[in-house]
Amino acid sequence: MFPNQFAYHRPSTLEEAVGLLAADPDAKVLAGGHSLLPAMKLRLAAPGALVDLASIEGLRGISADGAVTIGAMTTYNQLVDSDELRARLPVVAEVAAGVGDPQVRSLGTLGGSLAHNDPAADFTALMLALGADVTAVGSQGERTIPADEFFLDILTTALGPDEILTAVRIPVPAGRVGMAYQKHEHPASGYAVVGIAAVLALGDDGTCRSARVAVTGCAPTATRAAAAEAALVGQALTPETIAAAAQAAPGGLEITGDLYASAEYRSHLVTVVGRRVLEQAAARARG
Ligand SMILES: Cc1cc2nc3c(=O)[nH]c(=O)nc-3n(C[C@H](O)[C@H](O)[C@H](O)COP(=O)(O)OP(=O)(O)OC[C@H]3O[C@@H](n4cnc5c(N)ncnc54)[C@H](O)[C@@H]3O)c2cc1C
Repeated sequence: MFPNQFAYHRPSTLEEAVGLLAADPDAKVLAGGHSLLPAMKLRLAAPGALVDLASIEGLRGISADGAVTIGAMTTYNQLVDSDELRARLPVVAEVAAGVGDPQVRSLGTLGGSLAHNDPAADFTALMLALGADVTAVGSQGERTIPADEFFLDILTTALGPDEILTAVRIPVPAGRVGMAYQKHEHPASGYAVVGIAAVLALGDDGTCRSARVAVTGCAPTATRAAAAEAALVGQALTPETIAAAAQAAPGGLEITGDLYASAEYRSHLVTVVGRRVLEQAAARARG
């Protein structure tokens, strides 16, 4: 299939890009194109104009101070290859290595993945678990949106129509913290049928001081698994408490089914993937 006709803009500044979006409600941002272009070819999306971010300086790259900041146009391969991430937040590089295939990883971007908010995307859950903040720039200026308030519904985020996601800022937690992500992949696409990210912090007495657990692939948008988090905090992370938290994980989630996996099967997968990822995060926290 061919897409509908559209105008193509390649601005060289963020201001110009925001101006183009503000002037044309039918315009859409183009990043790596790995979600938008297939949707256009299937005529599921028909924007009147594309605003390509590829020539805008400053949207690519990874820097670190107390936190790690990743430019929206940074590709999955750049995440995989980053020494900065391997040293401070290796789970980000690990997750990037498991996205799609070599073509997707070479062009797909972190910003595109978060802005698209596919219900099965890997990085939406990871950013929720890591407690990241998203920076957006639009005609009203710049604002910071916590990941917890960013992912609203299927393919819908808190971004306004003329806002561009410019960067993601991820805190680097101190102390005994373990981070992990695991997914049960769809065999054809590699997308998560169920994917779960966990960030567990241990207190001085070895019990779980804080837990952030987020699930993707089984609801309209990635969501925190509040029941699993509540079951972990204050507990020693034994095989029994981890199994109990994994068993509690589906509670409160709006789990949906499709042709590939029923809601009941996905709910079961949440408990299985949940136990595995919590065990991995706990082992990493213990060091
Ligand atoms: C075969 C295949 C397998 C895949 N497997 C996986 C997988 O295993 N896991 C996974 O998570 N994803 C997977 N993906 C999706 C892939 O990660 C996409 O690259 C990603 O979802 C979108 O990023 P992009 O840079 O390509 O964005 P685009 O396709 O260019 O844009 C996607 C949407 O986000 C908007 N957008 C993009 N960037 C911005 C921005 N900076 N500010 C505001 N809006 C923006 C666009 O307007 C568009 O609506 C797969 C895709 C394919 C084709």
